[in-house]
Amino acid sequence: MSRLDNSDNPDLARLDKETEVEIIDAVRVPDSANPVMPVRLRQDDEFTFRCHQGVSCWNDCCHGADITLTPNDILRLCAHLDIRPMEFLKTYTVPGMWDRADLPVAKLKMSDADGKGACQFLTEEGCSVYEHRPATCRYYPLGLASVKPKGADEKEDFFFLVREQHCCGHNEDKTQTVAAYRKEQGIEEYDDVNRGWMDILMKMASWKNLGGPGGKDIAPQTKQMFFLVSTNVDGFRSFVFDTKFLETYEIDPEAVEILKTDDKVLLRLGFDWMKNVMFNEPTITLKEPILHEAMAKARENLGAM
Ligand code: SF4
Ligand code: SF4
Repeated sequence: MSRLDNSDNPDLARLDKETEVEIIDAVRVPDSANPVMPVRLRQDDEFTFRCHQGVSCWNDCCHGADITLTPNDILRLCAHLDIRPMEFLKTYTVPGMWDRADLPVAKLKMSDADGKGACQFLTEEGCSVYEHRPATCRYYPLGLASVKPKGADEKEDFFFLVREQHCCGHNEDKTQTVAAYRKEQGIEEYDDVNRGWMDILMKMASWKNLGGPGGKDIAPQTKQMFFLVSTNVDGFRSFVFDTKFLETYEIDPEAVEILKTDDKVLLRLGFDWMKNVMFNEPTITLKEPILHEAMAKARENLGAM
């Protein structure tokens, strides 16, 4: 029997339907006619597109763009700009919501009061942070979505093409596979580091119609913590080392040393922990005495001895 055969639990049974969620949404001008091509692309599928300085729309897509920053975007841009996440968030982002999952995210700040102006990283020559540009900018004009087929344990990624009218890159004569484009754009590293974050967005989006995990919305403090883990490794590191976190969870002493300096490992821990807090997944283990205490409390709440 599949782990997702939830016929005894109505909430889980309702969740066990095909769920499709766009993780990287490539639409730059949301008020135009829907430009998303209704075809699921796999890695070996081909599409025709090329962007270069000679196109008449050069840099059009870097104005008024709605760009959600992934955790790896923030790591890479902070390292490149030689600033800490707090300063980066204040200077280059605006707070936003990832509506499909009701979770807070940081979005890249566009200039002008209405946010329709140029991206702050745009110069006459093009993107000034090109080597470290966000995942959404790398993916464009592709989007990334995940689908969990009904009855399956695992979700699968697929891609979709966005043909916005302003983008002339679709009229160029370069045809490539999705895999080749992803390689050229350096996307694999981003998907790898962002995996835990993407899993949580996907899972929350699937629960959304039921009001949240187990039918309940998650607490505002948990959403704030998700934002902290996703956007500010310094803040989350302080949380791990300056609170009772390490007394509460089983973390290998060698890993504790690594967590002091390795931001990517810290992110992995953060999202494993969030999955445990939000969905009760066994991604992180409570220490024995804490576990016994929690079990005693649970028994007490159930009215047992
Ligand atoms: S980060 Fe670079 S590519 Fe992305 S919107 Fe800004 S200028 Fe354009
Ligand atoms: S071709 Fe498309 S991606 Fe390239 S600059 Fe023009 S609008 Fe942007």
